[in-house]
Amino acid sequence: MKGRSSLVVGNWKMNGSLALAENWAKEFAALWRQAAPAAEAGLCVPSVFLDRLVRSLRAEGLEAVEPGAEDVSVREGSGAFTGEVSASMLRDAGARLCIVGHSERRTLFGESNASVVLKVKALAAQGIRPIVCVGETREEREAGRTSEVILAQVRAVLGGCGIESLAGGAFAYEPLWAIGSGAAASLEQIEPVHAAIRAALCEADAGASEKVRVLYGGSVKPANAAAILALPHVDGALVGGASLKAESFYGICACG
Ligand code: PEP
Repeated sequence: MKGRSSLVVGNWKMNGSLALAENWAKEFAALWRQAAPAAEAGLCVPSVFLDRLVRSLRAEGLEAVEPGAEDVSVREGSGAFTGEVSASMLRDAGARLCIVGHSERRTLFGESNASVVLKVKALAAQGIRPIVCVGETREEREAGRTSEVILAQVRAVLGGCGIESLAGGAFAYEPLWAIGSGAAASLEQIEPVHAAIRAALCEADAGASEKVRVLYGGSVKPANAAAILALPHVDGALVGGASLKAESFYGICACG
């Protein structure tokens, strides 16, 4: 998808507050008014903060920043599913993006490729763009299994929900060993995985490259973003820790 601007999406994880959502929008807007960043920007927050984020972005005239959620229920519609938040509820609250299958959900909360497929379908039905995370553990990389693991995850999602459900969304390649470590994967490690994901997309649909971005995630910060975003097959970034500070996140978006 190179040729279009990058997409940089923040992921607050289980961090933040209503006050941070409001202040973040104010601070990001002040920077944006000095110079609109090169990249398209999105910010995924805990769903209880979504409405405040949406209102705060709107109040600052920052409609271009896409608000998003970090997870969604596999269940569509409504019903007796205590604690679940459906895609239609997220849309009602203003979500335009949603992270699916983050490695923290896969390893800590039993997320599977099958549930990722159901979630992507539920989001597509509501017009919310999915950001589907895939990634290998350090052990898998050291065993030379990176491509096998990543392509199995990508193909399971592509085969299960089809390219149209993913259209406008992205796969995010996030090596588990790089997330939150402070040290991103090297450019030499990132590029071949992104090329392989893009090849799998094209295998599924010749036009897929135009429809689905491939983002990199794992310790992206202002200091390393320019080099990562310049890689031929990298269409943007998924940013955890550095997205909590509007200034750092803006610094990454400015590299897009
Ligand atoms: C993430 O959680 O998706 C992530 C990439 O985190 P960090 O940027 O903090 O490594």
